[in-house]
Amino acid sequence: MKMPAVALRGMVILPGMIAHFDVSREKSIKAVEACMMEEQKIFLVTQRDVEQEEPAAEDLYKIGIIAEVKQVIKLQNNIVRILVEGKERAELSSFLDQPEYLLAEIIRFDEAVDDGLTGEIKTAMLRGLKETFAKYVAVNPRMGKELQRQVKESADLEKLMDQLANNLPFQYEEKQKILEAVSLTERYEVLMALLLKEIEITAIKNEFQAKVKERVDKNQKEYILREQMKIIREELGEDNTESDADQYMEALKKLKADKEVKEKIKKEISRFKNISSSSSESAVTRGYIETLLELPWDKSSKDNRDIKNAERILNEDHYGLEKVKERMLEFLAVRNLTKKGQSPIICLVGPPGTGKTSIARSVARALDKKYVRISLGGVRDEAEIRGHRKTYVGAMPGRIVNGLRSAGVKNPLMLLDEIDKMSSDYKGDTASALLEVLDSEQNSKFRDHYVEVPVDLSEVFFIATANSLQDIPRPLLDRMEVIEVTSYTENEKAHIAKEHLLAKQIERNGLKQNQLSISDKALAKIIRGYTREAGVRNLERKLGEIARKAARDIYENDKKKVKVTEQNLEKYLGKEKYSFDQKNDTDEIGIVRGLAWTSVGGDTLEIEVNIMPGKGEIQLTGQLGDVMKESAQAGLSYIRSVSMEYQIPKKFFQENDIHIHIPEGAVPKDGPSAGITMATAMLSAITKTPVRADVAMTGEITLRGRVLPIGGLKEKTLAAKNAGIKTVCVPQKNEKDIEEIPEEIKKGLEIVFVENLSQVLEIAFVHK
Ligand code: ADP
Repeated sequence: MKMPAVALRGMVILPGMIAHFDVSREKSIKAVEACMMEEQKIFLVTQRDVEQEEPAAEDLYKIGIIAEVKQVIKLQNNIVRILVEGKERAELSSFLDQPEYLLAEIIRFDEAVDDGLTGEIKTAMLRGLKETFAKYVAVNPRMGKELQRQVKESADLEKLMDQLANNLPFQYEEKQKILEAVSLTERYEVLMALLLKEIEITAIKNEFQAKVKERVDKNQKEYILREQMKIIREELGEDNTESDADQYMEALKKLKADKEVKEKIKKEISRFKNISSSSSESAVTRGYIETLLELPWDKSSKDNRDIKNAERILNEDHYGLEKVKERMLEFLAVRNLTKKGQSPIICLVGPPGTGKTSIARSVARALDKKYVRISLGGVRDEAEIRGHRKTYVGAMPGRIVNGLRSAGVKNPLMLLDEIDKMSSDYKGDTASALLEVLDSEQNSKFRDHYVEVPVDLSEVFFIATANSLQDIPRPLLDRMEVIEVTSYTENEKAHIAKEHLLAKQIERNGLKQNQLSISDKALAKIIRGYTREAGVRNLERKLGEIARKAARDIYENDKKKVKVTEQNLEKYLGKEKYSFDQKNDTDEIGIVRGLAWTSVGGDTLEIEVNIMPGKGEIQLTGQLGDVMKESAQAGLSYIRSVSMEYQIPKKFFQENDIHIHIPEGAVPKDGPSAGITMATAMLSAITKTPVRADVAMTGEITLRGRVLPIGGLKEKTLAAKNAGIKTVCVPQKNEKDIEEIPEEIKKGLEIVFVENLSQVLEIAFVHK
């Protein structure tokens, strides 16, 4: 059967459906005109692709509909609006050769495509559809009442299906599926599936809507409550944001700061007024304003410039530490003369417990400065020093600015504790951030990421502490004036204990000063036998332990006072823990005592050398670091080069092995300063010459036998003294350090300065 055809775009007409649409394509208009000439029947078939301008047969769906054109209206611009009614499904077979319009050859379906369904099945289908539609209505309550009624009353399956297909909001692709479902069973299945899908989608959509609505409702409710609260507050005269903002303004007026800062704060306050107090931004802004208001922009405390007073206080708080005290007093004097001097940056370097932190606190007291301590140990993230940007949640200023804030003045004494324990990681370079803090050129305009406006650090008096110089980043070290704090001698420790620590501990444990006394001998025993350290931390702890036990004794046994003596010390502290290595009793071959400098002070170390038949190998065992191994090699080379002088047979080094052993002490030691000790021990073993047991030595050795200087002379000589040594060999170049050594050590200890190994041997070897 032939019929003019129109290709539809984005729509599908179903049987029983009355619809109108506009036709604008030339060919389509011609087709409409042609059909009007005849039976007014037109074949409508939908394009697969909406964009296609000139669709061929294969661009169209196979199944279309024969429709009756009810009305044609010519609109402007060559557009024709037609009203059609869908009549029956038909299949497009092909287009005939007709250039003016689409003339389709179509195949009509047999009317009886009801699959021979029985009446019962049809009724079941009818009911099924009605029930499903009811469900659909349940989730879509706004479905037209008229349709609902029609569906309810419908008794004809095919009609019902047409009604549903025409009235539900299906996509055109879905409608096409319905159109293509020629048999009733097929159509039923498609329709059912679509309905169920629609129900599901609507249910999900409804659920979402409910959630959104709930949220909106909640916000709305909160908003209303907040507004009400605002009004109530206003009535009571306590509006928060307003009054807070006012308070900030008030504080800002009183704030001493330069214009830039004040402008910045003012801007933030007016911003604060305009943001809802419930928003997180409000809290951020509030925190920011408060931080800025609390910073000591132009607030400083008055320093005490009385040098005599300062000297008195420094001496009052600490025993010894002359160099540090002297340097502080010099600084004060200079500043008094020049009125305004740049604060030096002092770095106290020394072992733990030697009073670095506490002297800094005491300096603050002497100068009447506020004191803040910033612990840098373990700081890895640059932001800890320079702050987080404000946009960051939970952003904070860095430690420096925080310190300044808690000091409350712009000229406090700021202790940068453990500057050597910082490290850098991927989050930035902590050292370079700190450099900016310490650099007098830059630190008057230090920029903290959080604060944003520059902060003046130029009047801060920085004191840094470190345990070792090596671990301080070089550029930082260059900015600082290093004062070394050395470990204490036994005598110094005794003084510190008697004059400071004991009284402190007595007070801390609730005793009266006259209730506890410790005899000098007992104190010496505590220092020697119960602690081994460079500083006095453990000593202080031990004294605390005694004070605690004494307090209990007094309380429980109703004693008047406790006297600790050498005899009853064990009752308080238990058995002695340490004993010093003592010198050997006899002079021996191949055993030499060296001196080492460790983190807990000086120590002696005994080096043993054995010679045995072999192939000229050198063997090193015991506690030996890489540096020690190298200096052993250097020593051996020297000995070989001078073997003639000592009548060592030529073949000796090919026929013997040398074994050097350094027994492991309590603390690991490494360093080049055992060089001459190892060389002496080797030569003693090779030449079978005994070495004096009361001689100890320290010094680095070169290939030519020269002796190079070492560090920690004070600690080393102290250790020698404790071990009962009579004579120590020390590099000539260390002579300048001799003044560091207190009389207490020098008394009864002969210190010999040596330049080369032969001088050492002269002293150490037992000459027959
Ligand atoms: P550091 O900072 O060097 O590790 P601390 O300052 O913490 O050492 O000192 C530990 C304890 O020893 C403190 O209680 C301190 O008062 C006390 N102390 C250290 N050296 C002295 C000294 N020379 N005079 C008085 N007390 C001292």
